[in-house]
Amino acid sequence: AKPLVAIVGRPNVGKSTLFNKLVGKRIAIVEDTPGVTRDRIYAEVEWLNQKFTLIDTGGIEPESEDIILKQMKRQAQIAIETADVIVFMVDGKEGLTGSDIEVAEMLRKVNKPVVLVVNKIDNLKLEDNKYEFYNLGIGEPITISAALSLGLGDMLDEIVRHF
Ligand code: GDP
Ligand code: MG
Repeated sequence: AKPLVAIVGRPNVGKSTLFNKLVGKRIAIVEDTPGVTRDRIYAEVEWLNQKFTLIDTGGIEPESEDIILKQMKRQAQIAIETADVIVFMVDGKEGLTGSDIEVAEMLRKVNKPVVLVVNKIDNLKLEDNKYEFYNLGIGEPITISAALSLGLGDMLDEIVRHF
């Protein structure tokens, strides 16, 4: 079977935007409100002759911080159980949050590769925003702009390296 790659992270960090860029067509639902992806959505992706299945997570928009955290943890747990590589996405404009730290703790405990992706790095001036994410303890952050399609090649190289 093809390797399974799951994108996890807080609502509104840009998971569905990345998913749609990699898939090449809009399958997941993206809106300006956080967390509008209705369910897990799967797509086939190919990079350098390597095929894999990509999962976008999200679910219904949670109405409180409490529920956001619960949902993130549940999705992280599903990713931990089913995915071969986990893409953990954080928001390079918002910076590090408490829920990022909690999910990172879950991901650190398992023996699966985690690619830490800092999204919304739309220009070089924002590049330094990545440094605080080293504190998550899951390795070197890779900066991308899903919206502008920046850094996606380096990120994909890092993902398929783990197959
Ligand atoms: P999700 O909830 O994690 O799936 O996030 P979405 O993909 O729905 O995106 C949430 C918001 O972030 C939308 O308004 C996107 O347009 C915006 N967004 C996504 N990627 C980027 C990016 O690279 N740069 C900027 N500036 N905004 C982005
Ligand atoms: Mg989404």
